Amino acid sequence: MGVYALFADAMPSVAVCTDLALSRHTTIGCGGRVALSVSPSDAEEAAEVLSLLHRRRIPHAFLGAGANTLPPDGDVDGVLVRSDLLGGLVLDGETLYAGAGVTGGALLRFALAHGVGGFEAFIGIPMTVGGACVMNAGVRERHFSDVVLRVLAVQGGRIVGFSPEACAFGEKTSVFQEGIFVVGALLRAERAPRASILKKREEFLARRASLPKGRSMGCVFVNPDGVGAGELIDRCGLKGRRVGGAYVSERHANFILNDGGTSEDVAALIGIVKDEVLRKTGINLREEIRRLSFTVGG
Ligand SMILES: Cc1cc2nc3c(=O)[nH]c(=O)nc-3n(C[C@H](O)[C@H](O)[C@H](O)COP(=O)(O)OP(=O)(O)OC[C@H]3O[C@@H](n4cnc5c(N)ncnc54)[C@H](O)[C@@H]3O)c2cc1C
Repeated sequence: MGVYALFADAMPSVAVCTDLALSRHTTIGCGGRVALSVSPSDAEEAAEVLSLLHRRRIPHAFLGAGANTLPPDGDVDGVLVRSDLLGGLVLDGETLYAGAGVTGGALLRFALAHGVGGFEAFIGIPMTVGGACVMNAGVRERHFSDVVLRVLAVQGGRIVGFSPEACAFGEKTSVFQEGIFVVGALLRAERAPRASILKKREEFLARRASLPKGRSMGCVFVNPDGVGAGELIDRCGLKGRRVGGAYVSERHANFILNDGGTSEDVAALIGIVKDEVLRKTGINLREEIRRLSFTVGG
């Protein structure tokens, strides 16, 4: 039985989409097509979907806004589990629940409308709440780990609440990178006057004005201790280096831009940058971006 027929039979009410083009669901804008994508609409449905995938040993992967993801080229005979229908924003006193599929923009608009501060630093970061938990998204002053009170996720087919400690947040890492599907997060809601929220938003947004425009995944590498990855790449003379349609930004060398290239172009360029930086500086750059790999384990 094909995966579409399997879902139609076992879970007829879950939202599915066949033949999904990864280039349209990732900010880097390349990649092939996936046989089926499934969008659970609540935690229980997510747990059912994942149990079915595990039981049948069907290769699968997770996707939010696709802003930090390098997808594979070619056809993928697997299932993409998406968070796009896991919505919901609920403010209750000092806490704010946000579904994994809530975008950064929607979170910030809701916070402003309800006089909730603390999220201004995330303005302009393309993300879903789920992806932000997985990647511990943020800027120097504030990361998602600073606002998370609890994360609701599906692990081993069960719905589990993760305390901030259990999330094991690090520099662009978290426990959720180990095949655990985030369903939503309870966030700290700090009451703040509208004027102060707006002022902070403007300040953080202004800092982003110099970032490269075009299709990218944001910063490709994590900054090594004491030095910017972009600065190192620049020092190695790699600005403008190109493989096919992928090239290192002239504006910010930690950005790889894609103009009509393939994921293979992007991956090859990442390899060249890593090798050159290691050869010339002795520093081994760690990738921040995630490669979308379809496995039976998550
Ligand atoms: C122009 C640009 C600027 C950026 N600037 C910043 C910045 O300033 N700071 C920063 O931190 N990042 C930045 N990024 C990177 C990106 O915005 C963040 O990493 C963001 O958190 C990604 O969220 P997402 O929903 O797009 O995740 P995705 O790219 O969809 O997914 C990221 C990883 O999480 C997994 N995943 C997604 N959703 C779930 C889920 N619900 N459960 C389990 N796993 C899941 C995916 O499989 C993948 O491994 C930038 C990216 C771009 C394109």
